[in-house]
Amino acid sequence: MGLDFIFDELSSLKEHALMREYRTVESAQGPYIQIKGKSYLSFCSNNYLGLADHPKIKQAAIAAINQYGWGTGASRLVAGNMTLHEELEKKIAEFKGTEAALLFPTGYMANVGALCALVGREDIVIGDKLNHASIIDGCRQSGATFRVYPHNDVSQLESLLQRSSIYRRRLVVTDSVFSMDGDTAPLPKIAEIAQKYDVILMIDDAHATGVFGQHGKGMIEHYGLEGKVDIIMGSLSKAIGSIGGFIAGSKCLIDFLKNKARSFIYTTALPPAACAASLAGLTLIQEDTSHIDKLWENIKYLKSQLSKFISNIAGESPIVPIIIGSAEDALSISKRLYEKGILIPAIRPPTVPLGTSRLRISLMATHSKEDINRLIDTMKDIGFLTHGNTIHPKAGYAQTDVG
Ligand SMILES: *Cc1c(COP(=O)(O)O)cnc(C)c1O
Repeated sequence: MGLDFIFDELSSLKEHALMREYRTVESAQGPYIQIKGKSYLSFCSNNYLGLADHPKIKQAAIAAINQYGWGTGASRLVAGNMTLHEELEKKIAEFKGTEAALLFPTGYMANVGALCALVGREDIVIGDKLNHASIIDGCRQSGATFRVYPHNDVSQLESLLQRSSIYRRRLVVTDSVFSMDGDTAPLPKIAEIAQKYDVILMIDDAHATGVFGQHGKGMIEHYGLEGKVDIIMGSLSKAIGSIGGFIAGSKCLIDFLKNKARSFIYTTALPPAACAASLAGLTLIQEDTSHIDKLWENIKYLKSQLSKFISNIAGESPIVPIIIGSAEDALSISKRLYEKGILIPAIRPPTVPLGTSRLRISLMATHSKEDINRLIDTMKDIGFLTHGNTIHPKAGYAQTDVG
């Protein structure tokens, strides 16, 4: 007995093609990465703008290390709070158009910390069924009553709100861009409903920050919803090319979270060099939107190429999923692509619902048109993309005969 159950559970994962294993990247995170000495064309990074190894970001981090060293040695509230944390928070608030912002070591911690601070036993939190795991964990840990509505179903959201007036506080939370489907939430409608029922609205802008909106500021800018969303969560680890998470909102909200968010209070402050890298990433986006333009060109191009073979390609973002169905099939296609030097992960349960295993392509601004052509050609080579094939990807459902 004792730990025997682990062996059984691992065997079961293997048997169902659900065992997770990682590969070891031996190079910087660009469109080409090296694994076991071989170069692979990667379509699986959230480094959407290619900033993770941008010279300006590297220089900023190096300069910060030279000035401030690496570690911070304490929580922000003890003695870990440094100039660069505050500069970055100011920059994030400016970028997001809010009064203030609060940094967390990761986006995961921002979601969990904020949700647990804002709602508790007497409250209800209502979220989209496909919200990110960090939101779900925050909702569960908060102790609040937790209800989900079917993906992007605003009428169900409204009906949950109509039936929830007994709670002390009501908070609605949604991803702005859904991480495994690449589609977007109908935020204008959700904001309208939130206002109508006078409830707190929180959005997770992790995949939209640096990607959506004319200046890459995210979904608020994209939809012109300034002032309509109470709590904007974001990540610096994706398009910004760095590490860290944040909450942006009113000064009052930020003061509250500084005092109440446990994942902010009881953890060590981010290294100043990480803040310097984030600052450089945000500055770069502010000064030059060409990376964002290039990313959207790539998205358009890939979708136009794929649509020759696949009807209604999901994804309105750099995340372009192709729903396969079974975990075995998704894994087998992913493996065959890997053998041809292309890296696209098979996303399987529990990350996505059973029967909706998928290839999740993510694009970067640093991909060239040739890279995308090579992806399409390789998919044809392995017999995955063929004319007349009946792939009808639709988020949330499985249906394909590809094997
Ligand atoms: C990645 C992600 C997070 C977590 O952000 P990290 O900075 O990686 O911890 C939160 N929400 C969504 C929707 C994400 O995709």
